[in-house]
Amino acid sequence: MARVPLIAGNWKMNLDHLEATYFVQKLAWLLRDAHFDYKHCEIVLFPAFTSLRSVQVLVEADNLRIRYGAQSVSVTSQGAFTGDVSADMLSQLRCSYVIVGHSERRKYHPEDDANIVDQVRAVLAAGMQPILCVGESFEERRQGIELEFAVGQVHDVTRDLNEAEAAALIIAYEPVWAIGTGMVATPQSAQDAARAIRAHMRQAFNDTVANTVRILYGGSVSSQNAAQLIQEADVDGFLVGGASLEVEEFSKIARIT
Ligand code: PEP
Repeated sequence: MARVPLIAGNWKMNLDHLEATYFVQKLAWLLRDAHFDYKHCEIVLFPAFTSLRSVQVLVEADNLRIRYGAQSVSVTSQGAFTGDVSADMLSQLRCSYVIVGHSERRKYHPEDDANIVDQVRAVLAAGMQPILCVGESFEERRQGIELEFAVGQVHDVTRDLNEAEAAALIIAYEPVWAIGTGMVATPQSAQDAARAIRAHMRQAFNDTVANTVRILYGGSVSSQNAAQLIQEADVDGFLVGGASLEVEEFSKIARIT
């Protein structure tokens, strides 16, 4: 089964709503100019919450094929949770995806596996797809347990999902030591992790789930290394941080795929 590659730009806490709309317009223009075929590669942007509505209005007004989503979500649906944003609020803005379990959220916010499972459920219940981030630290890699660690994180979050829920997941393998450091994983180690995660989904669920779930690589992806990484059989695209803030650079990564 052919999986459509997905190139996602995680802007983190960068680009205000004016910069965001400029970026979306320019990206659409660059990709149109390059006769980009959205049927063979999905493009998804993750702006800050404050830009989502502006991006939605632009995408819908100009009938753009670019998708967008949120960088995190509340596990509760409404109420006295100051500063939180619910999954229903995001789906009303026609977000397609929500990043869940990014290492920066795990580090700077109290997001543990139980909370991440609840986020996954909230996203699915609202009709969107979670992009679940997993990946080892430098210390786990040094100990040679990187595959067990990443697969263990997938297992901990997915073990109570049913097959339909599991098939709706996208998994981003993002070794923490590679995020924002310029130290990209080798294509072979990205493939080893993606293959191990897919094998786990096959064993825990079934062939259909394993063959459907897209597995992205994230960690210092740029237009210099994307072409080699995307050759790997189990790497279905990228979650791009720093290099997604520059529209020409991000469009180059998209066009490589
Ligand atoms: C990320 O934060 O998801 C990421 C992959 O960042 P960078 O591309 O900057 O390493």
